[in-house]
Amino acid sequence: MDTSTRFPWRQFSLVALLAIILVGTIAMNPTLGPAKKSPLKGKKVLFVYGGWKGHEPIKYRDMLVPWLIEEGAKVDTFSSLEVYADSAYMETVDLVLQIYTMSKITKEQQKGLLRTIRRGAGLAGWHGGLCDAFRNNPAYQYMTGGQWVSHPGGHVDYTVNFADVDDPLIKGLKDFDVHTEQYYMHVDPNVKVLATTTFNGEKDYWIDGCTMPIAWKKAYGQGRVFYTSLGHHADVFDQPDARKLLERGIRWASESKEKGPEVWITPMY
Ligand SMILES: [Zn+2]
Repeated sequence: MDTSTRFPWRQFSLVALLAIILVGTIAMNPTLGPAKKSPLKGKKVLFVYGGWKGHEPIKYRDMLVPWLIEEGAKVDTFSSLEVYADSAYMETVDLVLQIYTMSKITKEQQKGLLRTIRRGAGLAGWHGGLCDAFRNNPAYQYMTGGQWVSHPGGHVDYTVNFADVDDPLIKGLKDFDVHTEQYYMHVDPNVKVLATTTFNGEKDYWIDGCTMPIAWKKAYGQGRVFYTSLGHHADVFDQPDARKLLERGIRWASESKEKGPEVWITPMY
């Protein structure tokens, strides 16, 4: 046989071997494969921002809305609470994201928001934007699962410890250190704690050694609620595992209408 026309088996097997290795690597490592569809895809997200400006509501809008759109969500942004009282609109919402520190909510707005979540929309938020909003409204706090009461020492160094529980929201995340406000909160015991922080007694000696939830998920009626107390400034979420926690929490809450709530009766901490 004329060697010039012989099929180049040697080169072919080398290429085939490389192809097999490549396909195998992609199959074994989901981060290299095609992106998994986000639960946020096709969801209607209401992003409500405002309240005390020290908590950077506009910066958060600009940080999270492009990410939500990238995930495939349809996002409406509102810089006031009036939308909560629009019951026809609220019925169409899959997920409410709120950063609205302190401030006041009217009876109609409060009723509209609580009804929406109770009927199955998800709710997610962070820091004072969710759990230091509308301080004089216990019905609202009953939904969120906690209320800020102090951050001893202001901005301090502390560690975020992921809870020793089996939950996809914290799978693979590693404890990390931050320099920011360490929220001391009154917390509903019927939440699933995902991360904690432990206080020292430097500012207030009587809380030395107190372990406090710093992230949780919970149910309110048919609605899924996710919260983390991180986030006085948006740059705390530059920490990759802090950002992953927030993104996973938002995705989880966005599946509320289709998957329903997860319920815990006993404290997980
Ligand atoms: Zn703050």
